[in-house]
Amino acid sequence: MTPTFHWTQSVAFSERIDRLNLHGLHFQHVNLCERRAWMYLHRINFAQWNSRVATGLAHQSTHYKRDRSTVGLFGLAPDRLDWEQAIVFENKGTAGASTAVDRQVGFYAAMLSIATDRTWRGRVQVLTNRRWREVILDPALLDGLWNDSLRLEHLAQTQAVPKTPRIGLCTNCSLASFCGYD
Ligand code: SF4
Repeated sequence: MTPTFHWTQSVAFSERIDRLNLHGLHFQHVNLCERRAWMYLHRINFAQWNSRVATGLAHQSTHYKRDRSTVGLFGLAPDRLDWEQAIVFENKGTAGASTAVDRQVGFYAAMLSIATDRTWRGRVQVLTNRRWREVILDPALLDGLWNDSLRLEHLAQTQAVPKTPRIGLCTNCSLASFCGYD
């Protein structure tokens, strides 16, 4: 049987998520690049101008349809849910950026745990090597999610675009031209 979920920050966390309309990708972006997170929070999107991203989106929409188990989850967009065992699944093409991906999946697990009072866990399935890893909602992950939500609130209230260094991710980022890192 799935353990009961207890987190003293549940109410405050949910309130911040609702107020700022946060979802999983915010938690991924803020762990990759604050500028990217800021753009996403302020709804500035260059993806359709970037041929690599446009091709990726088209590929994803035709090849990776979400499972029926996720229908009706307002504001959450995992790939599949196992309601019986309380596992949320997320498919990724590669095993890269594992911390950021784990925060995204951890966010889904936290929100489902808060909503159902059961402790959910995540499972990241890497499509290219057919391996998977567990994402456990332990105190360290909950602390990380809490701190991410504070960072996102700060970024949402900040008007200036944050300064960020060039990183490996810039090569494939749809914002590279804007940042001058292309
Ligand atoms: S190009 Fe680099 S610095 Fe600019 S938003 Fe993308 S990842 Fe961040």
